[in-house]
Amino acid sequence: MIEAKPFALGVRIEHPQSIIDQLQYRCEIRDPFLPPASYSLVEQINGRGVFSFCMCPGGIIAPASTRQGALVVNGWSPSKRNNPFANSGMVVGIDEKDFKDPHPLAGLKYQYAVEKKAFEAGGGKFVAPAQRMTDFLMNKQSSSLPACSYIPGLQSVSLSEVLPKIVNDALVLGLKHFGQKLQGKFGRPGYLTHEAVLVATESRTSSPVRVPRHQDELTHPQITNLYPCAEGAGYAGGIVSAAMDGMRIAEKIYAKLHPFGH
Ligand SMILES: Cc1cc2nc3c(=O)[nH]c(=O)nc-3n(C[C@H](O)[C@H](O)[C@H](O)COP(=O)(O)OP(=O)(O)OC[C@H]3O[C@@H](n4cnc5c(N)ncnc54)[C@H](O)[C@@H]3O)c2cc1C
Repeated sequence: MIEAKPFALGVRIEHPQSIIDQLQYRCEIRDPFLPPASYSLVEQINGRGVFSFCMCPGGIIAPASTRQGALVVNGWSPSKRNNPFANSGMVVGIDEKDFKDPHPLAGLKYQYAVEKKAFEAGGGKFVAPAQRMTDFLMNKQSSSLPACSYIPGLQSVSLSEVLPKIVNDALVLGLKHFGQKLQGKFGRPGYLTHEAVLVATESRTSSPVRVPRHQDELTHPQITNLYPCAEGAGYAGGIVSAAMDGMRIAEKIYAKLHPFGH
C-alpha cells in the first residue's frame, strides 16, 4: 500500500553570484573574507506556497534525470563555492487536488509529464528549456540567453508551454514579490533581472508518494518487518532529515532485535 502526497515543482534560477552578493551584503564587491551570499525566499500566492529550495551559492546546475526522455535539473556547490553563479530551486506547492486523479501514483505521473515536456522542449540530449527571468514575467521567448553553469546547454523557450499553468502563474507572482524584497540599489540589478535565467525543470524537491508506516513501530501496516524510511518513502527531504530518519529506524530495529538490551 502506498499513497499520494503533496510535493513541489518549478525551475532552477541562476544569477551571477556577484548580483546575489551585492543584494545581500549591500556592497559593490564582496569582501574576500565573506562567503558567497545565499538567500531563502518564500511567499504564499493564493494559498499556494512559492519558495526557494536548495540554494547553491557559487554553484552549478546539474542534470539529474532518472530516465531517458525526461529532464530534471538539480543544483550543487563545490566546497569552495567558487563558481561565478548562484542557483536555487524555485518551486510551487502541488497537492493531491492538482493531480485530478485518485491513483496513489498520480503525483509521479504528474511529475513525469512535466519532465517529459521539458526534455522535448529542450530538443533532446538533456539540453534544458530556459528563459530569462524578465522575459518569463512577460511570457516572451528570450532572444538570447545568458551564460549558465548547466553543461548540456540551454534552449530558449516559453516556459509557460512547459510548466503546468498553476505552477507558471504562481511563479510569475512569486518572482514579482521576491523582486520587491530584493531590490538593487544605485542602479545595480535586483533579484528580478534580465541577467537571471530560469531553467526547467526542478521536480524532485521531495517524493510525491508516501509508503505508510505505523506511528510508533515505524513498520508498514500490512507488511511485517518492512520499515519505510527516508526520502523515497516520503519521510524526509534532504540529507539531514533522511539521515535522522534512518537513525530512528536503525534504533527501532536494534531495540526489536535486542528486547532486553545488549
Ligand atoms: C545533485 C544533488 C544535490 C543535492 N544537494 C543536496 C544538498 O545540498 N542538501 C541536501 O540536504 N540534500 C541534497 N540533495 C538531496 C539528497 O541527496 C537526498 O535528500 C538524500 O540523499 C536522500 O537520502 P535517502 O537515504 O532517502 O535516499 P538516497 O540517498 O537516494 O539513498 C537510496 C539508496 O538506495 C539505493 N537503492 C535504490 N534502489 C535500490 C534497490 N532496488 N536495491 C538496493 N538499493 C537500492 C540507491 O542506490 C541509494 O544508495 C541533493 C540531491 C542531488 C541529486
